[in-house]
Amino acid sequence: MSSTINFGIDLGTTNSLIAKCDNGVVEVFKNPVGHKETLPSVVGFRKERILVGDKAREYLEKDPGNVFSCFKRKMGTTESFFVPNLGDFRTPMQLSAMVLKELRNFIYTAESPQSVVITIPASFDTVQSNATKQSGYDAGFKEVVLLQEPIAASLAFANKGNDMEKEGRWLVYDLGGGTFDVALVQFRDGEMRITDHEGNNYLGGLDFDNLIVEELIVPYMQSRGQYTDLMNSLKSASGKRNALYYELVYKAEEAKIMLSNQPEAEIEFETEDDNGEEQELLMTISRDAFNDIIRERIEETIEFAKMIIDRHSADGGKVKEVILIGGSTYIPLVRTMLQDGLGIPVNASVDPTTAVAIGAAYFAGTKTSGYAIISTLSENKDVADEELQVKMAYQKNTNDREEYFSALITGDTHGRFYRITRDDGGFDSGLKPLAKRIEEVLTLLPNALNQFHLKFFDAEQMHLAVSVSTISIVQGKYSLYGQPLPNDICLEVDDNLNNVTHLEVLFEKNEILPVKKTITKTISRTIVKGSTDQLLINVLEGSRYATAQSNLPIGVISINGKDIDRDLIKGSDVDLTIEITESRDIKINAYLSIADKEYAEVFSPTSRNINISRLKDETDYLLRIANKNMSKLVEAEDFEASAKLRETIKQLEQIQNRLRLLKEDDVTDEKYKLEEQKRRMALSIDIAGKDNRIRELREDYFGWKASTVHYLSKVDNEALQRKFGQITRDENEFLGGSEAIIKRRIEEMRQLSWDIRKKDLDYLAGLYMLYVIRDPEDYKDQYKIKQLIERGDAALQRKSPEELLAIIYQMYDLLINKETEEPLKGTGLA
Ligand code: ADP
Ligand code: MG
Repeated sequence: MSSTINFGIDLGTTNSLIAKCDNGVVEVFKNPVGHKETLPSVVGFRKERILVGDKAREYLEKDPGNVFSCFKRKMGTTESFFVPNLGDFRTPMQLSAMVLKELRNFIYTAESPQSVVITIPASFDTVQSNATKQSGYDAGFKEVVLLQEPIAASLAFANKGNDMEKEGRWLVYDLGGGTFDVALVQFRDGEMRITDHEGNNYLGGLDFDNLIVEELIVPYMQSRGQYTDLMNSLKSASGKRNALYYELVYKAEEAKIMLSNQPEAEIEFETEDDNGEEQELLMTISRDAFNDIIRERIEETIEFAKMIIDRHSADGGKVKEVILIGGSTYIPLVRTMLQDGLGIPVNASVDPTTAVAIGAAYFAGTKTSGYAIISTLSENKDVADEELQVKMAYQKNTNDREEYFSALITGDTHGRFYRITRDDGGFDSGLKPLAKRIEEVLTLLPNALNQFHLKFFDAEQMHLAVSVSTISIVQGKYSLYGQPLPNDICLEVDDNLNNVTHLEVLFEKNEILPVKKTITKTISRTIVKGSTDQLLINVLEGSRYATAQSNLPIGVISINGKDIDRDLIKGSDVDLTIEITESRDIKINAYLSIADKEYAEVFSPTSRNINISRLKDETDYLLRIANKNMSKLVEAEDFEASAKLRETIKQLEQIQNRLRLLKEDDVTDEKYKLEEQKRRMALSIDIAGKDNRIRELREDYFGWKASTVHYLSKVDNEALQRKFGQITRDENEFLGGSEAIIKRRIEEMRQLSWDIRKKDLDYLAGLYMLYVIRDPEDYKDQYKIKQLIERGDAALQRKSPEELLAIIYQMYDLLINKETEEPLKGTGLA
């Protein structure tokens, strides 16, 4: 009985594979039909049955409307595909599950694994990751462990016997059918870690196939026959040449693959032009022509690679090689452009189509499973000794020549013995007395799978039948340090000063999973018992530099006034513990000390997680912002931008209307759609307004700075001078950075400026006069104001800024109409 997962699956956009690690040796399974290792990630629906893989691809030309591919690009969204032959929808998750089930059929060893490792792009967010996990469950697996693709590829590369030097760095460049990923990996002490990654989920071989059709085939057709609106008639689902389009894409791909090995390829097809003329077309495509149309896209991938290298050039250590992964790296131009563009040698020694699956299997071979692999051939007949139970601990992969082994024994150990032997006879612990805990240092054969057996004996040295699994240790293979977070994980908190919410980083991009953190926050406004007001603990994924509205909510706990026994008073504490597991479950625990209450929830979002009343508030807020921006644009006579913004406003109003009709307990996916739409709108407002806002903020900053300099020159105060130096020190840098940081600095500057002016009698006198000359009707208590003015005049005479300030504060308090903004209804957390 095996205790490791062993099975690994590369669930690719274009192709999927399954592999197994058997004691350190990996085998990629082949399709029993056709004996290919790759299964195209394509699902077709005929009236009577479901086709997966090559069969579905073939069916595509006949009935394109009922065949689906590239659904990986839609994982984690609420988008569904309509299947005419079923008269029903299928989600990307369901389609992926069909591919996974088909892969299960590749396993010829008659095993039925309950646990599996499935790979995901490094850039998959929490929702996409969880959707992938769910597909695994839907396909019948009981346990799904996720692994990032570049890590898998690197494991395959490293474990191929490549000598990864102690401090080496590699760039893993994965250009597949649908996606592009690049990662910087590092090896240290036999462990591999990902330092950083970038990618584009919409760039790959498919785009090249399309370019061949659009840039080469279509012009050729036009030169041979009469066609009107040819491109649309091909690409539109209702176009009359839509079936031909699929045929052409298919042929373009075949030609593209041939061009990786030869200078020319032919494409042959038949069609009828608009005049009903039969066209037999035969065209030759040269590698040069192909190179010309894809060059720009490849350039893009190299820019990503450069970006990632530049970002870490300061950390030291040169990038040794670029490891090529993904089917599209067979294209010779990709290799030469990479080599020339980066000046780093390219390594094509691993099979780019199987590397991810192989790496996944290696990883699976070291990952213990919570489930046994059920053999469908025979039941496992090992009978466990009722008395003795063994729990073993050791590292399954190591670069050391010795491995520390320990085991905990429960049951009667008294007078009994144990013995550990290596299968090849090279190690023997000898017979040793048994204890509750046993320890041994096992010596290992280099670059090999080392198997040991642990056996138990009674006082007469008779062998005891205890079921113990084999101890398998792979020497000289690389193991994994951990998987990094693809994005920042943030908490949304109120910024009452600026009347907005902002994001506070909980975990940074590239931190290694699992992560856990406990922080204490304060409640920013009193939540009254019995009210409908709520305290929101909103955890989001995305960039910390974006607004909450444009990030992805991944876990939210709302504590409603109706659910509490006493008021949550402003200023009291909330202890938050946030945890993300390696398989991307989010655990949030909130403890309210004032109510002595604890709230805990686990989130595994496979699509958006939405709170309707919150969504309404956010939409209202966005509309306010959008309308405000609109007046500015109109003023500035920026007609293009204002037309775009008008479209956004229209859509937001639609969202608002639809939300108004939506019940809290609505069971459809309407709210998910609305939320996604809202996020898109938020992002477009964000982007459209960003330059403007940053410019305004800069002006604001310099305004405050100038006034601070002015007042600073009048006081001789070293501490204030120093504070000024601190705020302005890295000015050039932060002014080019995020809005939140500039705002914070402005706030600091404003505070400093006020701290200085507070000490300046001239300034205070001016301020005081503004209050003195106001209409007495402006104040609540005219008698008290008169008294304050008398005291103020006296303080002025005494030249006492402190006293004068205190009086100004009191006068302010007596004002009837203070100009304040309507307070924000945010999260209630500060
Ligand atoms: P994914 O990871 O997206 O599932 P793969 O890594 O399997 O994709 O790569 C599939 C892509 O590689 C397809 O677009 C395919 O056309 C392309 N491809 C495969 N072999 C070659 C080749 N010899 N030359 C050029 N492109 C190739
Ligand atoms: Mg891939």
